[in-house]
Amino acid sequence: MRIFVTGGAGFIGSNFILQVLSKKSVLDVKKLINFDKLSYAGNLDNLSSIKHDTRYCFVEGDICDQELVSSLFEDYDITHVVNFAAESHVDRSIEGPEAFIRTNVIGTLRLLQAFKELCAKEKADNTQRKFLHVSTDEVYGTLCANDPAFSETNPYLPNSPYAASKAASDHLVRSYFHTFGLPVVTTNCSNNYGPYQFPEKLIPLMILNALEGKDLPIYGDGKNVRDWLHVEDHCQAIATVLLDGKEGETYNIGGNSEMTNLEVVDTICTSLDKLKPKDSGSYLDQKTFVKDRPGHDRRYAINATKIEKDLGWIPRWNFANGIKNTIEWYLAHQDWCQKISNQTYNRKRLGLVEQKVDNA
Ligand code: NAD
Repeated sequence: MRIFVTGGAGFIGSNFILQVLSKKSVLDVKKLINFDKLSYAGNLDNLSSIKHDTRYCFVEGDICDQELVSSLFEDYDITHVVNFAAESHVDRSIEGPEAFIRTNVIGTLRLLQAFKELCAKEKADNTQRKFLHVSTDEVYGTLCANDPAFSETNPYLPNSPYAASKAASDHLVRSYFHTFGLPVVTTNCSNNYGPYQFPEKLIPLMILNALEGKDLPIYGDGKNVRDWLHVEDHCQAIATVLLDGKEGETYNIGGNSEMTNLEVVDTICTSLDKLKPKDSGSYLDQKTFVKDRPGHDRRYAINATKIEKDLGWIPRWNFANGIKNTIEWYLAHQDWCQKISNQTYNRKRLGLVEQKVDNA
């Protein structure tokens, strides 16, 4: 496989790269290009352990730059594309939706166009090529307490500009299968947590705020439900779909771990009380309820029967072990957190990034 990973300096993309270049990888990777714009969410520190691997190459670039993408596809005779690159934070999409349309919709379109051109060249056997688009369960909208979990046939009913932009990109991917016969597949996953998650998202935000003695802001009544999945499980599911997923199909991925935000925050606080007790009181005392996010979906839940039945994937982490592993990771990587707090994590900001680094 010669894989082109977009957004590989972000949370899930960097976990995916570390996993597929590790010894226990299920993929036979000859070359892996990490193509990332290094937005505020991109952090090459996540990949420092593999930066000298000769299979690995980093190229700084924007997925909207079709010419650059096309030339890289051709130069490296790419067989597989995994599209993680996105604007991914719902709150930011409420403040400024345009960036979401640009990257998530236009960017995905340009990638598909470049992939279409590549397939038309028939340099490699196209039956070996695949374009995997990484998407979210948020495209399905919201559930009431007793509704059945989302399956692949649920209608798309996105409620935030983020979810709407991901829904649009999913539709484009689908259309490139039906109209042009491209070997594409889409995954729709629930909320992820684990190492290297940027601390604007609920779990790392709560861990870091707790440790810094700050408030732990909880939207509304804290009863919004998410189905939490450890990022390692998500990455394994993506590798499975990349290998065996059927062209034109979509696969839901979830953790069978529905929790309210309040339960998540309480779990973090009580774990921290044990792992890093405060001089006095509990981290629970730092909880504070804040005005709800507009359009805040009440509940997401994933029915992941299809990927289990068709491809044999099941999550390995349960939430109790996964959250403990995650909190321990943040406690052990205070230097990583520190660089984010003092804004020295993103080497592009410091003018230190070389635009292309290929170790081969
Ligand atoms: P992230 O925000 O941590 O990382 C996104 C990465 O994409 C960053 O490295 C950023 O620099 C890069 N990027 C942004 N715009 C780009 C552009 N125009 N060109 C090239 N690179 C660009 O996101 P994440 O949490 O790792 O999510 C990855 C993907 O998974 C997204 O598509 C997201 O919608 C999807 N997803 C995320 C979750 C979750 O819980 N985090 C759940 C389901 C699906």
